[in-house]
Amino acid sequence: MTGDSFISLIFGLQTWGLVLAIICLNEPRLGRFIKLTAARIYKVYANYSPIEYLSDDCLTPVSLRCLKRVAKKTLVLDMDETLITAWIQRQGDHRHSPPNVPHDFKFGISTAICKGDVYVYKRPHVDRFLNNVSRWYNLVVFTCGTEDYASPILDFLDKGRGILDKRFYRQHTIDVGGLRAKYISLCSPDMANILLLDNSSIACSFNAGNCIPISSYRIGQKDEALLELLPFLDALRFTRDVRSVLGKCTRFDCLTTLLESVAK
Ligand SMILES: [Mg+2]
Repeated sequence: MTGDSFISLIFGLQTWGLVLAIICLNEPRLGRFIKLTAARIYKVYANYSPIEYLSDDCLTPVSLRCLKRVAKKTLVLDMDETLITAWIQRQGDHRHSPPNVPHDFKFGISTAICKGDVYVYKRPHVDRFLNNVSRWYNLVVFTCGTEDYASPILDFLDKGRGILDKRFYRQHTIDVGGLRAKYISLCSPDMANILLLDNSSIACSFNAGNCIPISSYRIGQKDEALLELLPFLDALRFTRDVRSVLGKCTRFDCLTTLLESVAK
């Protein structure tokens, strides 16, 4: 490319960019359309992974024997900011509009506390994650959300497969000094074979020794946290007591002792 044609190309791109910016400023709907289209393209990119984690159990006979000697474990999943993040458009609130990211699911809610539309955004790789862990673990969802709010979202994630049928909602949490605590013994009393995946550091502190913390998912961000957890969760199936591994990651467990004393 000659110097002149390169300068022409740069000048042309600048001109088109300027024209597009002026049109978007005068026509907000077109601007929103362009932003949403860009977000859709980004979403495909965010859900792409060059690594395919093999979901089928291609285990050696030795590994299969090891797996038979230990109990099948229960994986308790938090919902908000762990599997999905939701945005609520309250009825009559015209000051805020949904994020410029295509939502995956939308439903209306009408409770004493909240009336409006709920926009649900799946965490990248959540479907692949659920497909894999549902083969390895008994799944339970424990959310601090109310049943009216969480139930349609869990139905959407479950897709009629029945893998998220065991559910605990806000009414199942325990009030500990004003904090809503998840007492995971409600899901299974066998503490050697139960683990909680949660983005809340408070929820983790209430279940020290059985908890895997995960970063909070923010709408629209590229995120591979669920994908990265798969090898670790695969390996944890082989332990006799998950606390032998997860207990070593605990820094603060006095809230666990407090919750146990309140729950008794
Ligand atoms: Mg959460």
